[in-house]
Amino acid sequence: MSNPIRVTVWNEGRHEKRSPEIAAVYPQGIHGAIAEGLKAHSDFEVRTATLDDPANGLPDDVLHTTDVLIWWGHMAHRDVPDELVDRVQARVLDGMGLIVLHSGHFSKIFRRLMGTNCSLIWREIGEKERVWVTAPGHPIVEGLGPYFEIPHTEMYGEFFDIPQPDELIFISWYPGGEVFRSGCAFYRGRGKVFYFSPGHETFPIYYQPEVRLVLANAVRWAAPVKVVGFRDLRQAPNAKTPLEPVTVGA
Ligand code: ZN
Repeated sequence: MSNPIRVTVWNEGRHEKRSPEIAAVYPQGIHGAIAEGLKAHSDFEVRTATLDDPANGLPDDVLHTTDVLIWWGHMAHRDVPDELVDRVQARVLDGMGLIVLHSGHFSKIFRRLMGTNCSLIWREIGEKERVWVTAPGHPIVEGLGPYFEIPHTEMYGEFFDIPQPDELIFISWYPGGEVFRSGCAFYRGRGKVFYFSPGHETFPIYYQPEVRLVLANAVRWAAPVKVVGFRDLRQAPNAKTPLEPVTVGA
């Protein structure tokens, strides 16, 4: 493909540094595993960034050359500067795709874009997750069957305090009885946001083929759409001249 989709995989990157158990699951970091899966696709140009990189990994030149940003965070949401959240939000409203993963439900950027608490219930006993497709015509499920299973996961359950998604792509079921809207798509400005819940750091979930397929599909879906002559959405211009002649009054 002549114009590859430029993907930046951003990861907080703290768990891997502090926990030998998690570093053993993700020796190249969670971002490394996600990037490895995406690099198998020739239509993507993939790079990684972490919270502890200069400018938190997302200086303006990186953000402005990113078509789709993937976000994994958990223990250090508060260390993400508000000015970075402002810049990411502006890029999303301007058309950049954003894929928020797992514990990123509580990230500043996801809560900003949703406008709600984004809270949920959780349980960590390594139970199974069955991820059901609820939008079989959606590009994010291309190549999947009616469901797939993650053998060991952290349970995320309802109520998930988000706005009603524009498109509900997946619902997960757990043996403990809970269900969760595990794949949710939203439109914000010219941009697209996909939340996907699988990806707890102690399990090798980002190596699983179905999960990698979902992420690749989501990148293609979230990539910006080219529009021509579209106005700056930050402005609300007075359209003084009608497109067609208008006769007003008697
Ligand atoms: Zn988790």
